[in-house]
Amino acid sequence: MPEFENQIAVVTGAARGIGRAIAARLARGGAALALCDVLAEEVEATAAALGGEFGVPARGFVVDVSDPEAVEGFVKHVKEEFGSLDLLVNNAGIARDGLLLRMSDDDFDRVLKVNLYGTFHFCRAAARVMAKQRSGRIVNISSVIGVMGNPGQANYAASKAGVLALTKTLAKELAGRGVTANCVAPGFIETEMTAQLPEEIRVEYKKLIPAGRFGTPEDVAEVVAFLASPAASYLTGHVLFVDGGMMM
Ligand code: NAP
Repeated sequence: MPEFENQIAVVTGAARGIGRAIAARLARGGAALALCDVLAEEVEATAAALGGEFGVPARGFVVDVSDPEAVEGFVKHVKEEFGSLDLLVNNAGIARDGLLLRMSDDDFDRVLKVNLYGTFHFCRAAARVMAKQRSGRIVNISSVIGVMGNPGQANYAASKAGVLALTKTLAKELAGRGVTANCVAPGFIETEMTAQLPEEIRVEYKKLIPAGRFGTPEDVAEVVAFLASPAASYLTGHVLFVDGGMMM
């Protein structure tokens, strides 16, 4: 039997990049997909493509994770349309880089609102459903930057460190209800988010990676799938670094 058969998976920021790869991996395991993103056409196209490729029910929805009412409404809708919510992957994230001395309140706020508040909104809404059904898996996408810090990313680093702490707290609160909560912290992954970096910075980053290469969205998706799978049922409150050894 496929590992995620009869499971309903919500993946945020799923239109492209790491979120799309995670959605594809869960669908390959038989999960039905409720995908959300702010990119309307792209998320619908991704859901249609993955549903067709893997033969699972798949729908794309426009949900801004920073909007608590939209998130509440979406989770309620998923429960009504699909019957349950078994796997939640909080992947939506943005960066607005700049040195702290010059960082605007708006750039600090917006990154916290999407990366940390967005994760909080979805965890809170999904936890209610999962606690009641006495089962569920939550995987939050943090970053090595949330542990290491990075010049020019005070907002992003703070948001991703917050995701780590939030996840550990949630893990403690939900463990007795059969719900696990874990983090995946990617290193440097080839996506549109990192494609914008200048070549000299990419060269410097590569020197920090013992594996000698950048990661792929599929490298991250495999680890998320493990945490969401029955094999990881006794694993909660953990952070798995998918970084080619960068954090060693
Ligand atoms: P990406 O290619 O930019 O994809 C992120 C997706 O999330 C985009 O479709 C984006 O739409 C969407 N999104 C942005 N704001 C949203 C919101 N408010 N509500 C719903 N969806 C929203 O990024 P990625 O590289 O795949 O990164 C995915 C996750 O991994 C992020 O949390 C990121 O911080 C984390 N991560 C990435 C790396 C890396 O090296 N790539 C490393 C560590 C951690 P828009 O295009 O409209 O913004």
